[in-house]
Amino acid sequence: PDGGGTALEAEGITMRFGGLVAVADVSLRLEPGRITALVGPNGSGKSTFVNVVTGIYRPAAGQVRFGGHDITGLPDYQVATAGVVRTFQDPRLVPHFTVRENLLLGAHRQLRHSGLAATLALPGAIAEEAAQLALVDAVLALSDLTEVADRPIDTLPYGTRRMAEVGRALLARPRVILLDEPAAGLSEAEMDRLAQLIRDMKAMGLAILLIDHHMDFLAELVDEVVVLDSGRMIYRGDIAGMRGDAQVIAAYLGD
Ligand code: ADP
Ligand code: MG
Repeated sequence: PDGGGTALEAEGITMRFGGLVAVADVSLRLEPGRITALVGPNGSGKSTFVNVVTGIYRPAAGQVRFGGHDITGLPDYQVATAGVVRTFQDPRLVPHFTVRENLLLGAHRQLRHSGLAATLALPGAIAEEAAQLALVDAVLALSDLTEVADRPIDTLPYGTRRMAEVGRALLARPRVILLDEPAAGLSEAEMDRLAQLIRDMKAMGLAILLIDHHMDFLAELVDEVVVLDSGRMIYRGDIAGMRGDAQVIAAYLGD
C-alpha cells in the first residue's frame, strides 16, 4: 500500500449492540481537503460509525487505518492524539468556563509538556504554551468567537456554543475531523458561519466527515455523500445523484 498519506480508511466496519446491527459492513475513505457527508434517517448508524472510528467502540468486524496505521480499537484519547478528532451531537463544553478556556481544554491534551512540566516552567513548556495561546486566538477568529472569547460559555446562545465545540476540536490540531450534526438547531445566519468555518478547515487540508440533514447546506459544501440506512451504505456519490436515487428516496428523502 501507499501508506494512505494522511487519509483515514474505514474498511468493512460492523458494529453490533446485542442483536442489533447498528453498522453493517461500511467502508469509506476520508482524504485531506475533502468533505464527505454522512446522511441517513435517525438510527441509521451515523453516530455509531463515528464512535467506532474515534475509538469509543471497538467494531465486531472491520479495520480503521489512519496514515497507513491500524488504529482499530485504540482508546479514544489515543485516536485523538493521533489526529482523528470528533465533535459530539450534544455539545460537551464546561458550562462556567469562558469560550477561551473551553478552547484551551481542547488544546491541552495535545501539549507535549503539560501538567508538572508546565508548572516547573521548563523552557520548552513556555514556548509551547505561548504557541498554543496564539493558536487559540487564531481559532477564535476563524470561528467568529473573538468578541465573546471571555464570556462564560453558558451565557451564550446555542449556536455560539456549537461553534465553540467545533473550535475546541480544531484546537486539538486534527488531520481528520468528524462533525456529528454541528448544524443542528442553528439559525440560517449561524449555518452560514459554520459553512465558512468548514470551508476554511477544508482549505487547511483537513479530511472532514460531516453528519447533517440539511440538503441545501450540504449541497454547497460537500465533495461526496454517503447514505446509511439501517446500518448499511445504500449510496455513495454526489448530492445530485443522491437526490435522484430511488433507494435513497424510499429510505430517507421520500417524506
Ligand atoms: P444515528 O446517529 O444515525 O441517528 P445511531 O448510530 O445513534 O444512529 O444509532 C444506530 C442504532 O444503534 C440505533 O438503533 C440506536 O438505538 C442503536 N444504538 C446506538 N448506540 C447504542 C448503544 N450504546 N447501545 C445500544 N444501542 C445503541
Ligand atoms: Mg446520531
